[in-house]
Amino acid sequence: MIKQLLFAVLFILANDTHAQVYLNPGVDTTFVEVSTALHFFDSYLSSFKGKKLPAMSQYWAANELKQRTIPDQIIFAQGDFPMYSQGYKPTILYMRPTENYVHIKAQFSMINNTNIMTVAIANYYVGFNAHRQPYFINPMTWNLLTWRTKTIRNVTFYFPKYHKFKPKNADSLILQINLLEHIWDLKPIPVRYYMADDPDELYKLRGFDYALLMGNKLKPSGISDDKDNQVFCGGMGENYFHEVAHLYLNHLYPKSPLQEGLVAFYAGSMGHSISWHLKRVNEYLQGHPNSDLSDIDNFWYTDPYTNPGSAIQGMICKIVYQKDGLNGLKHLMTYMTYKEIFEKEFNVKHNEINTFLKNLINEQANLK
Ligand SMILES: [Zn+2]
Repeated sequence: MIKQLLFAVLFILANDTHAQVYLNPGVDTTFVEVSTALHFFDSYLSSFKGKKLPAMSQYWAANELKQRTIPDQIIFAQGDFPMYSQGYKPTILYMRPTENYVHIKAQFSMINNTNIMTVAIANYYVGFNAHRQPYFINPMTWNLLTWRTKTIRNVTFYFPKYHKFKPKNADSLILQINLLEHIWDLKPIPVRYYMADDPDELYKLRGFDYALLMGNKLKPSGISDDKDNQVFCGGMGENYFHEVAHLYLNHLYPKSPLQEGLVAFYAGSMGHSISWHLKRVNEYLQGHPNSDLSDIDNFWYTDPYTNPGSAIQGMICKIVYQKDGLNGLKHLMTYMTYKEIFEKEFNVKHNEINTFLKNLINEQANLK
């Protein structure tokens, strides 16, 4: 058996000058459609350079591009920077040709001392057009076949069969969207809202077998994609307004360091209000008096229920709103640095930020 495997399949793409993909032993590339799919996949990954994305139309069919400007739902598994440009080594574990496509399973990992650190294991499907040219098929196309959908106003909900749709929760989401549109004078955005009880199901829906953030204790979590107006919401049912609010507000002030705070101010975060989170941050600060808040973006400690930076940002938005109303908040969002924000809004110099913020958080956390 082992002999056969080695004979048929030990094929490393290192011979190819552009290649970056490694084939795990056991993958048979002798069939022409498999080797075509392999080179296609390899050339796709190689075409990612830094933050810049390749021309998607070279790799994806027109019907996918009609649905999404970025059909590949794996690229941004690790935040805003394309995963394929982050230096992880792609290893192909599995390639199966079927009548209509070749299924590829790839692992993205890195050697850390002598251990393998894996960031994702994902599935790709390569189909062929009438001219035998390869193209990618979005795994969501198959995965959604068993899901249900329901559209209310501008939101189309997608959910697994086991989920009983709760119109009351959906109405509550729509009410909040309505209010946000009204306050900010914004037009309705058509939103695709994917939801499941367990956030891991949403990773699987997008094509992952494994992603770095899967598998921890269940808690509400969501992802918003403002490029293609879709949200993936786990554990909050039909009413995860936070992620939808990102779709409306992100593009208004793309350079503001307070984007997350503005959304948290209107929609809370991870299912709780700003003041709930501030109480937790304050508790931490009381127990860690040496913490330094001078640089909010780099102030971090592990709390599975609170993102301290987003709570502090939300607090800044709330205070400015209470002081100067909506126009004040809009003006606050035009600043591009924290330095400007603290100097111009609060008359606080850089070396005073730490004390200023700690006092403010303590005061806000203890408000009745
Ligand atoms: Zn957010």
